[in-house]
Amino acid sequence: MRRIRLLVLNAALGVLDYRVPDGMAVEHGNVVVAPLGPRQVTGIVWEEERLPGAEVPEEKLRPILSVLPVAPIRSELRRLIEWTADYYCAPMSSVARMVLASGGALKGGVSVTEYRLTGEQPDRMTPQRQQALEKLEGAQGTIRELAALAGVSEGVLRGLVNQGVLEPEEVDADRPYPRALPDHAEPVLSADQKQVADELVEAVEAEDFAPILLDGVTGSGKTETYFEPVASAIRAGRQVLVLLPEIALTENFLRRFEDRFGAPPVLWHSSLKSSERRRAWRAIARAPEDGGAQVVVGARSALFLPYANLGLIVVDEAHEISFKQDDGVRYNARDVAVMRGHFERIPVVLASATPALESLHMAETGTYRKLNLPSRFGGATLPTIRLIDLTQEPPERGRWLAPSLARELFARMERKEQTLLFLNRRGYAPLTLCRNCGYRFQCKQCSAWLVEHRFSHRLACHHCGHEEPTPEACPECGEPDSLVPCGPGVERVADEVREIAPEARIAVATSDTLNTPARAAEFVAMAEAGAIDVIVGTQLVTKGFHFPDLTLVGVVDADLGLEGGDLRAAERVYQQIAQVAGRAGRASKPGEVLIQTRHPEAPVIAALAEGDRDAFYAAELDARRDANAPPFGRWAAIIVSSEDEKEARLSAARIGDARPRLDDIMILGPAPAPLAQLRGRYRYRLLINAKRTAALQDAIRDWLGPLELPRGVRVGIDIDPYSFV
Ligand code: ADP
Ligand code: ZN
Repeated sequence: MRRIRLLVLNAALGVLDYRVPDGMAVEHGNVVVAPLGPRQVTGIVWEEERLPGAEVPEEKLRPILSVLPVAPIRSELRRLIEWTADYYCAPMSSVARMVLASGGALKGGVSVTEYRLTGEQPDRMTPQRQQALEKLEGAQGTIRELAALAGVSEGVLRGLVNQGVLEPEEVDADRPYPRALPDHAEPVLSADQKQVADELVEAVEAEDFAPILLDGVTGSGKTETYFEPVASAIRAGRQVLVLLPEIALTENFLRRFEDRFGAPPVLWHSSLKSSERRRAWRAIARAPEDGGAQVVVGARSALFLPYANLGLIVVDEAHEISFKQDDGVRYNARDVAVMRGHFERIPVVLASATPALESLHMAETGTYRKLNLPSRFGGATLPTIRLIDLTQEPPERGRWLAPSLARELFARMERKEQTLLFLNRRGYAPLTLCRNCGYRFQCKQCSAWLVEHRFSHRLACHHCGHEEPTPEACPECGEPDSLVPCGPGVERVADEVREIAPEARIAVATSDTLNTPARAAEFVAMAEAGAIDVIVGTQLVTKGFHFPDLTLVGVVDADLGLEGGDLRAAERVYQQIAQVAGRAGRASKPGEVLIQTRHPEAPVIAALAEGDRDAFYAAELDARRDANAPPFGRWAAIIVSSEDEKEARLSAARIGDARPRLDDIMILGPAPAPLAQLRGRYRYRLLINAKRTAALQDAIRDWLGPLELPRGVRVGIDIDPYSFV
């Protein structure tokens, strides 16, 4: 091949053609470096016919500079890149960048110099050196990583190296991970589990595409069950990808994995250090028989990595909305996982106790196979569920727990059992205002209230992350001590528990408190050791955790999620509450769930109380059919934003004016987005509702492609959106 076409990693450059110098071997999928003016670009060699570009005459072609020392990106993954870009209306280069997710890995196998403390003291102590010595205790990494970890400059650390306080070690960047042993500790499966596991193993052995919905109630042992096909893939020398929704969940998962397979899996998530990314990426690109990664456990971004020999994908808690990425390439990892399975010709298992309506529908229409685990493992029973009608039994003024919920909590404390209170709101109070003048604290960058966090004495915007100290006096009228919190957050509920049960040992479990794997692990260890009586938590505690002594779950406000215009609101409330209810009574002691609501008659609340999942799904499916919503019709959103309000408004109007008139596609808006300002950008939104059969993406491309908008305007396209703000 003398003439090649490159997909370069920069959307603005488009497709570029080059020549291969004599003596250089190049094949499709190779990652190469090519000259571009005085600069260099990285690109993937692509099939010319699949990548339309301007024809460049032979004599103008410049030679590429080198082929990078990594295995070619396989055609299965090239097809996935094309599909993802096409389906989500994203540049192919943006998808390709998720594949080549470690710059270091592309440079080939090298050794890196890492450093660690020797125990020596520096000749002269400075505050920065002191800080470095404290922060780097037990750490090892490159100078750059350690500088970030210690919060000091690289120069400070170099000084410490010269003095022998830090010592270097040459580390092979590609050293293999410990081997997972498929037969290490095989569990004894229940009859139900065995049957499901056998079918999953068969699917792995068949080496063909098979989308499978593993529908198992909470506590049924889905993990133990899908570990069997994982073992079978390992035996066959193939790789497995397990996608998990939340990094806080991994700790518990890792322990169980190691118990079963005798070694930890390879981890992939956004907070890996660059050396860890590099090592993981290169191991993933290598087949297990050559010392490559066997099982990868990761967040959604692990889906795009260049697995050498993938044999199985498991998406655990597949209904979770954190599989949807809402910036950059706006993809849903659950759906892309199924497509990857299609291109790789391997099984994809979607595991959940509360599958997404879309997934259930695919199973019911025969597109996915459905396997069931209808009962809890080890004779544990599902918890009983009771509603507390807050209109009949209101909490005291300024309190949020109804008397009967408080009574049950006391009873649990007496029996040395645990209670979980669920409220999906971080912080102390969702709104703070001045009692004197009525001033409300609002984010200056976003149309959102600032949320008070008492632990950290700050007001925070949950949209942009802005934080400021909580002032002593009202910034508007100057009145001291005049600020009042409105409504509850988890911290406030924790305060209430502290008041009514002063001896209770309370843990607040949110993304603020369990923000590192180490903290999550500490929380789990304390809860398991019985060192916590009451857990107050957000959606973070709805999944994954297994605490045998937890026998009471209180849902503080079941109506919370039903507000707002999200089309999946009812489904999401159902999933959240069913999942959090699933934390109760998972071992020998029976569990009870109390759900506080003002709307016991709402269909989703009634279905939860009855434990009638099928009725809820059936009713919800009918509603979706009427609204032409997924899985029947499809939605897409176009978000137009600019720092300049007028520019955003006028651009949205121009897009609206240019809308295509089509029978099978309805376009609504533009209108100011519910979150009308975000991070200082004004936002307008158009919503598109299309028939299932409509050529939705083509219509959007034909519509938006020719429009030329001011430079400061961003147009985001969200196919199958989950967020409607
Ligand atoms: P799910 O994910 O379906 O809610 P888990 O996989 O967390 O359920 O399993 C619930 C509990 O039962 C876990 O502690 C798990 O280790 C245990 N368990 C499930 N199946 C088995 C088995 N076959 N042998 C031993 N323990 C099991
Ligand atoms: Zn903000």
